[in-house]
Amino acid sequence: MKRFFCLVLLACVLLCGCSGSSAPVRETVFCMDTVMDLQVWGRDAEEGLRKITEELNALERDWSATSGSSLLAQMNRGEAPALLPWQAELLERVEGLSRRTGGAFDPHLRALSEVWGFSEETHRVPTPGEIAAAMEQPQWDLGAALKGYAGQECAGILAGMDVDRAMLVLGGNVQTFGDKPDGSPWQIGIQNPEGGENLGILSVTGTVSVVTSGDYQRYFEIDGVRYHHILDPKTGYPADSGLRSVTVICRDGLTADCLSTALFVMGLEQAADFWRESDDFDAVFVTTGGAIHATEGAILSGCQYEVISR
Ligand code: AMP
Ligand code: MG
Repeated sequence: MKRFFCLVLLACVLLCGCSGSSAPVRETVFCMDTVMDLQVWGRDAEEGLRKITEELNALERDWSATSGSSLLAQMNRGEAPALLPWQAELLERVEGLSRRTGGAFDPHLRALSEVWGFSEETHRVPTPGEIAAAMEQPQWDLGAALKGYAGQECAGILAGMDVDRAMLVLGGNVQTFGDKPDGSPWQIGIQNPEGGENLGILSVTGTVSVVTSGDYQRYFEIDGVRYHHILDPKTGYPADSGLRSVTVICRDGLTADCLSTALFVMGLEQAADFWRESDDFDAVFVTTGGAIHATEGAILSGCQYEVISR
């Protein structure tokens, strides 16, 4: 199921023709539990691709919640592994984003994801007692943050090399790097939660993260009820906020990823207010009724939508 949706997502990312440019070096890798499609253009493209693949694997080794030897797994066992300064800083930033979203993004939901069977794909509906017990057991899980951080780290690596541009699709996260030679924007499809053709096309320029959280990315159904993987930290149940997906466009990858999850939990109204109080991102929302809403800085085409203004 997961792989299927990742592949659908890959198909939905539109890579515009790059007139006058050489072909990219391209690789598909499986990392962080998802399919990643990496394209890099420029003299150091091959070397760049090798370095970013190494970086993605290193980040997974450190921060996977499932691998027993990762830093997170050690912390979840109550150990206190020595953290390098950048590692401590990453956790501080994640905690800061949790505070900024009033806890809608909560990096400690590992036990909760586990009782729903999302961690090991052993899906089941837990009892209220199991949910309550899991909510009292804060365990690290950076599943809602790591790919965004990773995308930006990769862009940082490429910035130090002779690389012209890159398009990195890390599951539901897209990280662009640089500009296309003809100056035209990168174009990224907003996936239809029901499948099929994209709902619309987002245009972005330069180095930017475009991260989508959606109820169609990981879910299971029992007796006709859909249970998806984005959990409301207040209730312990899949967020029932009236949204099918949220796409965040932000220059900072970690912020984009944390916010896409948080805004999904908040729902449209609260998320729009949150955006009005912020100045570092734009967002596109798809509601359960199929309506599309976009904040005024999002450049969206190919669909009808309501603009969210300041
Ligand atoms: P994303 O696809 O970025 O929205 O992240 C969803 C993943 O993050 C889930 O598969 C869980 O591992 C974890 N998660 C679920 N709900 C939340 C939440 N409210 N805050 C932070 N992480 C969450
Ligand atoms: Mg996220």
